[in-house]
Amino acid sequence: MVGDEVIKDLSKRLNSITHADDMIAKIGGTEFAIIMGLNHLHTQISSQDQTQCVKFAKELISASCLPFYLSSGQKCEIGLNVGAAAFPQDANSAEELMKYADLAVYSAKKKTKSSIEFYSKKLVDASLKRIEMEDALRNAIEKQKFELYLQPMLDLDCGKIVKAEALIRWNHPNGHVVSPDEFIPLAEQTGLIIPMGKWVIKEACSILQQLSAKGEEIKLSINLSPRQVSDRQLFEFIKNSVEKAQIDPQRLELELTEGVLIDNYDKVNYLLDEVRKLGITVSIDDFGTGYSSLAYLQKLPIDRLKIDKSFVKELIENSNDSHGAIILAVIAIARSLRLEVIAEGVETTLQKDFLKLNNCNIVQGYLFSRPVPYDDFCILLEEQKNTH
Ligand code: C2E
Ligand code: CA
Ligand code: CA
Repeated sequence: MVGDEVIKDLSKRLNSITHADDMIAKIGGTEFAIIMGLNHLHTQISSQDQTQCVKFAKELISASCLPFYLSSGQKCEIGLNVGAAAFPQDANSAEELMKYADLAVYSAKKKTKSSIEFYSKKLVDASLKRIEMEDALRNAIEKQKFELYLQPMLDLDCGKIVKAEALIRWNHPNGHVVSPDEFIPLAEQTGLIIPMGKWVIKEACSILQQLSAKGEEIKLSINLSPRQVSDRQLFEFIKNSVEKAQIDPQRLELELTEGVLIDNYDKVNYLLDEVRKLGITVSIDDFGTGYSSLAYLQKLPIDRLKIDKSFVKELIENSNDSHGAIILAVIAIARSLRLEVIAEGVETTLQKDFLKLNNCNIVQGYLFSRPVPYDDFCILLEEQKNTH
C-alpha cells in the first residue's frame, strides 16, 4: 500500500536524524514517539533545552517534508506535527509524559501542516475547557437546549420577507445565548453535529408547518456542515422529516459552503440530486470565499448563490470602484448560469442600494433584522402585513 511505503520511508528518515542515545518507536498508524536525551537536568526546562528541542523538531519536519518517490513512480508529500513534553518538569510518569506530548501534538495539528508545540499549562486548561464544553454540548443535545433563530430575507422589489435563514442558538444553563461560532466547530470535530443537525432539520420542518398553519408561505433555509453531508442517512432523515411534518418540500432550502461541496463531491452530488427530486432547493453559502475552481457550479445541481458578507462589507462610503467588483462578478456568474443570487450581511442603505441597482434583489442583514426567536419573527411578518 502507498501509505505503508511512505511510513517505512519516513521511519528511515527519522531514524537517521535521531541521536544514538535517543529512542524512537512507531506508536500508531501515523504516529511516532521519540525519547530525546537532553544534556542536563533542571527543575525547570531551560531555554537552552527548548532551543535544542526545537532545532531537533525542525530537522524532523524538514526531513519529512522532502518528497517521497514511490515504487509506482508516484511522488507524494506529507506534513509532520511535533508535540513535546519534558520529564520530570511536565510529568511524573511515562503515561503522563505521553499524554502531555499527545496534547501538544493535538494543539500543533490545529496550527499549520507542519508545526511544533510544547506542552504547557495553557494547553491543559484549553483541553479541560474543551472537555467541559463537549460534556455540556452532549447534555444540551439530550435536553434539547437549542433554539432556531430566524433571520428574514427580503425581496427588494416588493420589500417583503420572502424567506428566512434558520440559525442555531444554544440556551446555556448559565443564562447566556451562545452563538454557533462558539460550538459548531467542536460539534463538528466530535461528531455531535450529527444529532444536533438532525434536531435542526426536524425543528425547521416544524417551524415551516407552524408558519403554513398561519397561512405564511415563506421559505426556510438551514445550514449543513461537512460531517453532516458525509452522513449516509442524511437524505432519508430529511425526506422523513419533511413527510412527517407534511410540509411542501419546495419551502425548504439547504445551504452548503463551497468547501463542503468540493471535499465531499460524490456524496454531495448524490445528496443534491435526491433532495432536488423532492423539490428542496440548494444554495451555496459564503460564495466566493472558498475555492477558485468554478467548474463545480456547472456540474452540481444548485439553485442559488449567496454572496458572502465580507464582500458586502467592503461597500462603504467613498469606496473605490474595485470594492463592488466581486459582487458584480458573482451576480454576472449567477445570471449566466441562471442561478438566483442573495446577498447576506447587508447593514447599510448604501449597500442595499448598490445591490438593488445591480439586480441582486434578495437581501439579508442587520439593516432589516438580526436573527430573532420564532415569536419575534412572527411579529415581523404581522408588521409587514399592516404596512403593505
Ligand atoms: P452563516 O451561515 O454564514 O450565517 C450568517 C451569519 O451572519 C449569522 O451568524 C448571522 O447572524 C450573521 N449575520 C447576518 N446578517 C448580518 C449582518 O448584517 N452583519 C453581520 N456582521 N453579520 C450578519 P450566526 O447566527 O452567528 O451563525 C454563524 C455561523 O454558524 C453560520 O454562518 C453558519 O455557518 C453556522 N450555523 C448557524 N446555524 C447552524 C446550523 O443550524 N447548522 C450548522 N451546521 N451551522 C450553523
Ligand atoms: Ca448560511
Ligand atoms: Ca453565509
